[in-house]
Amino acid sequence: MLVVGRSPESAAFLVEALKEEGIGCVSWALRTEPSISLVCQGVEFARQEHCDLVIAFGGGSSIDAGKAIAALLANGGELSDYLEVIGKGQPLQNPSVPFIAIPTTAGTGSEVTRNAVLASPEQRVKVSLRSPKMLARLAVVDPELTLTLPPALTASTGLDALTQLIEPYVSNRANPLTDGFCLEGLRRVSRSLRRAYHCGSDIAAREFMSLASLLGGLALANAGLGVVHGCAAPIGGMFDAPHGGICAALLPHGMSVNIRASRARTPDSETLRRYETVARLLTGKPDALAEEGVEWVRGLCRELQIPPLAAYGVQQSDIPDLVQKASKASSTKGNPLSLTENELREVLTLAL
Ligand SMILES: [Zn+2]
Repeated sequence: MLVVGRSPESAAFLVEALKEEGIGCVSWALRTEPSISLVCQGVEFARQEHCDLVIAFGGGSSIDAGKAIAALLANGGELSDYLEVIGKGQPLQNPSVPFIAIPTTAGTGSEVTRNAVLASPEQRVKVSLRSPKMLARLAVVDPELTLTLPPALTASTGLDALTQLIEPYVSNRANPLTDGFCLEGLRRVSRSLRRAYHCGSDIAAREFMSLASLLGGLALANAGLGVVHGCAAPIGGMFDAPHGGICAALLPHGMSVNIRASRARTPDSETLRRYETVARLLTGKPDALAEEGVEWVRGLCRELQIPPLAAYGVQQSDIPDLVQKASKASSTKGNPLSLTENELREVLTLAL
């Protein structure tokens, strides 16, 4: 089964190559971010067609959908038996059927993570199907596949990659291995995201961004995330908004509130030193302060024309509900310090 995104024709070469190798293949196209019911339809289709291998070719949505379908094909029962939060949360018993992830964006790093984020439109939430048994058997990360990504998508997915390098680096679960991934990824984003946005055909910039996305995926899968993803989770459930765009709108404000809270409550903390390192890598200034990193990200968001959350229909009146949900989100647990409700409200309000 080949799971593809909005432009299935871009995978025509892959169908052709599989055919040449004598491998039968059926395509299944996904036009939105994956929902629980869509994944159930995909599993049913795969069973009817007797698929025993899943290839996902596309952005994070296609890869998450393919990852969930591959897991369900190897495990009996209903998807809801295994879902976190709104399902029974039972562990998957069997490893997924062989699953190959081929990303065509540079952002989510979903090709190396062990969860699939699925929407439940009825409950207006996004939940994860999560298990170490869901890891892809093979991830093919080829920057050439991202050359045709339009500027707006390059911007939002690239800023998701940046968020997924900063949050695991300052996370309370950071460790020396994930630090290495994050520092290397941050260096690459700082030198290539603007270039990839303005000049999409620049293969060197695309290669740096593909690597940065992969490194971010490895980092977040092992060190967790923080307040930006904690706020992004309920927004993604309640509004029709792409994950990358939401993270991009929130990132400078999440950084700024975290830095201010750290200066006030834990001025000698490792967290501030880490935000300083982020600032120095991003700006290239060896003596940059933590706040200069926030300014750099703010400038990047302006230049890359990142729309505010209001562009997706988020309003001031939604904020109290979002604050409650963000405070309980699993990503928020990785934040370097526990933010108050007022601070969470500030992050969300500034991003409106
Ligand atoms: Zn993300």
